[in-house]
Amino acid sequence: MSDFIQLLPDNIANQIAAGEVIQRPASVVKELMENAIDAGATHIDVNIKDSGKTLIQVVDNGQGMSEKDALLCFERHATSKVRNADDLFALTTKGFRGEALASIAAIAHVELKTRMCSSEVGRRIKMEGSKCTVSEEVICSEGTSFEVKNLFYNVPARRNFLKTDSTEFRHIQDEFERVAFAHPDIQMTLTHNGSEVYHLPQAVLRKRIVNLLGNGWNDRLVPIDESTDIVQLKGFIVKPEHARKSRGDQFFFVNNRFFKSSYFNNAIQRAFQGLVKEGAYPGYFLFLDVDPQKIDVNVHPTKTEIKFEEEKFIYAIIHSSVKLALGKYNIAPTLEFDQETSFEIPHAMRSQPAVEPTIQVNTSYNPFRSANSNTSGTKQSNFSQAITQHGFGSSAGHPKDWEQFYADPKEMEEESIAEIDFSVDDLPHSFIVKDSYLISPSKSGLLAIHLRRAIERIVYDSILKSFISKPIESQKLLFPIEKELSKNEITHWENNRTLLKQLGYEASIEENTILSVRAVPSVLQEEVISSSIDRILEKISYTEIEKEDIAHEIIGAIAASAALKKIPIGNSEIMKGLIEQLFQCENHSYTPRNKKIIETITLTEIQQKFN
Ligand code: ADP
Ligand code: MG
Repeated sequence: MSDFIQLLPDNIANQIAAGEVIQRPASVVKELMENAIDAGATHIDVNIKDSGKTLIQVVDNGQGMSEKDALLCFERHATSKVRNADDLFALTTKGFRGEALASIAAIAHVELKTRMCSSEVGRRIKMEGSKCTVSEEVICSEGTSFEVKNLFYNVPARRNFLKTDSTEFRHIQDEFERVAFAHPDIQMTLTHNGSEVYHLPQAVLRKRIVNLLGNGWNDRLVPIDESTDIVQLKGFIVKPEHARKSRGDQFFFVNNRFFKSSYFNNAIQRAFQGLVKEGAYPGYFLFLDVDPQKIDVNVHPTKTEIKFEEEKFIYAIIHSSVKLALGKYNIAPTLEFDQETSFEIPHAMRSQPAVEPTIQVNTSYNPFRSANSNTSGTKQSNFSQAITQHGFGSSAGHPKDWEQFYADPKEMEEESIAEIDFSVDDLPHSFIVKDSYLISPSKSGLLAIHLRRAIERIVYDSILKSFISKPIESQKLLFPIEKELSKNEITHWENNRTLLKQLGYEASIEENTILSVRAVPSVLQEEVISSSIDRILEKISYTEIEKEDIAHEIIGAIAASAALKKIPIGNSEIMKGLIEQLFQCENHSYTPRNKKIIETITLTEIQQKFN
């Protein structure tokens, strides 16, 4: 019997392997740039001709290679980055497979020039079809230059498969951008057919984004910065109004490596719910820092998918950090609302140690997190405090009718007050339209506040605040409210009984079907009590809620009901109190359900209407 099996020659094996690693010119750009980063470069130039079909050149000022390494680097599984199996589970470099250069050399003409700083002369190597054709000394600058010519010259099927020049260059640009976002501290240029596409100086991330995407981006970015034991989250989300119809602006990086994750993307999508138009995708540049031992970058040959050991926790952190940032971002209209003088307040107050931000309502409170692990979102803005103390001139104290919204007014009065020149006279004249909107002239245009939504936010925050420290105040009903419930509803009510009691609802189940409610949160006016119970039942029985979100959801339901009450628009003191309360909330721009509370109409917009 004859034997049929034989080992493939190296060049063919490399060519096959190349099929996985190098799909198009952009893959070469990515691999070479990543090698330059791993080599510690602070400067990388990428030079492309004909969308990479003719030439891809990457020049770096990294550590360079020795004469021996310069030859060895083209061997398959030749790498300086992994020494033993353990290293695979604690990767700090981009590369680790040792197959990129072998793959490239199998399907293109490659010229390498490299010099280590310790050597006087460098080495020049030429590779063709995995064979070394030239190896000689060369005078060259420190670092490494790879020239890759005639890509896929010996794989016609692949070459013919390449798309138009503009498509292939778009892919190159995408790869270049991903690397550039991930490493703002490295200078980079991209040149195509002799013209410079990007010239990126060393910068901070925000500046790098602006340098890559354009000046307009500076105003679109909302910072994210959250630190936990498991993950550090940094970066930016893009304001919802700039969400685009494509997923082009979505970037996740872990330990500075670009990755894709529909799971984490969902965490962000959920946080943006209701804020972006149908069919638009929220933008983000999110950098996760995770212990390399707790991720697995090995799951995909082109390495854009990554496994996380603690993905559920990270999901929750991403979700709440984005929500928090969304609530905070609309700072501008708040400041404009009070004319120029109030603009000074935060700065004035910042210099006063007595008015260091106080812990107020933590609207990002997440019951599944321990109290002291929560590092952000607990601070009340100085500005809000300024309004609380001095704003709207309510020297007689907080308007009585709204007092119920204050969880602990005394606590705030005890705060020492900085000398701030701010009174009600600073407030521009406001008026109310259709019993629903408070309109106020501001320095740069008009500001409109959706009153019901403002109430919803205020009630939500005040309940959340008291709920965190104690059961919230409840009122006994003269006549219990009775409702006939389904089995499913009864079960869910029972399951959440303790939580509901803490939120002010006292009830018993009669004859297995009747819910008899004897006390409700005192924040609710009579006419909205029944609807609040309906809302809660709907939430807990018919919507899918993560366990950790139930408290938020029920409080949200109470707040939504509370907002249905009649607004005492005739009473200007009460209205002032309402606005005052609103600005005390950290997330005063959006309701807990992500509906806009404040809208500004700029002077320019008004002027445009007259054009
Ligand atoms: P990997 O990056 O997975 O190690 P590559 O085939 O991309 O595999 O590179 C092989 C080796 O060649 C690297 O481990 C590194 O030692 C060396 N190398 C590649 N590019 C450079 C460079 N620009 N500067 C210095 N060394 C390099
Ligand atoms: Mg590599």
